[in-house]
Amino acid sequence: MASEFELIRRHFTLPTRNTKLGVGDDAALLVPRPGMELVVTSDMLVAGTHFFADTNPVDLGWKTLAVNVSDIAAMGATPRWAFLAIALPDADEAWIARLARGFAECAECFDIDLAGGDTTRGPLTLSVTLIGEVATGNAIRREGARDGDDLWVTGTPGLASLGLAHLRGEPSLSDDAAAICLAALHRPQPRLGAGQALKGIATAMLDVSDGLLGDLGHILEHSGVGAEIDLECLPSGLPDDHAISRARLQEAVLRGGDDYELLFTAPACRRDGISNLSAHLTLPFSRIGKITGDAGIIMLVDRQGSRTPATALGYDHFRQ
Ligand code: ADP
Ligand code: MG
Repeated sequence: MASEFELIRRHFTLPTRNTKLGVGDDAALLVPRPGMELVVTSDMLVAGTHFFADTNPVDLGWKTLAVNVSDIAAMGATPRWAFLAIALPDADEAWIARLARGFAECAECFDIDLAGGDTTRGPLTLSVTLIGEVATGNAIRREGARDGDDLWVTGTPGLASLGLAHLRGEPSLSDDAAAICLAALHRPQPRLGAGQALKGIATAMLDVSDGLLGDLGHILEHSGVGAEIDLECLPSGLPDDHAISRARLQEAVLRGGDDYELLFTAPACRRDGISNLSAHLTLPFSRIGKITGDAGIIMLVDRQGSRTPATALGYDHFRQ
């Protein structure tokens, strides 16, 4: 059985490019670039709460970093240094090697250095702290949405929650649709290029992790505005034979979690620019509604134009 230090040396000492001193000393030395602010986020994945303990560890390694990249993307920033704290019930080295491989894949994909962490015995838990940079004053926050702004979302929210429902044996997805939804669940693709390109365009932004309506509620609260969602404009992202009802799909798009798409607001004069960006990134951007002056209220508008207030509420670990 390898020692803790041997495990760290073998699996968590990855090549670094942007770190003065990384894994191995008491602490890391990082040199931010001149003119940049640091953007820092932490996300924890707990077995049984955020993932099934038998999840493929390569996927888990990817996802544990990817969900943090998504937060940095949502600020319009660039991720640079990751810290990985893991609690493991035992030192199953083959499992750890696969976890580290998925993590390394994501780190390489987004040019992130693993600069340190902690390794301990305990109930299976993965926690990443990710540090990024953004030019001073340029971060995109939740508070800038204005009455009349368009409301946009990237990609296809809802798929991950359908993947999870599928694993739980819930709806009858076609094979093609199930493959798409499971990929969305296990291999979320943080929208880093989109987030960075939206600097100077988006007035408010966040990443959708706890359900679109609930997360939209955060923008509304921070910005002191309301919103109207045009149900006809919600993206689907599934082949036509997906075999679930329109209502179930809509529910997943509005309330499903684990999406890691970007939800943002922008003035109407930015529509052409956003369409060009969408083409350039080959990523769909859907204009799903607009911001209103009715603070805290979300109205859902259907095909016939009738309006219903949404009961928002995203996922909340502590809600009774
Ligand atoms: P200390 O006891 O001084 O806190 P540790 O034994 O916890 O040091 O860690 C030794 C080195 O290995 C440190 O540089 C730490 O950042 C790094 N490290 C520990 N666990 C991990 C991990 N899972 N991933 C990356 N680096 C790690
Ligand atoms: Mg330590």
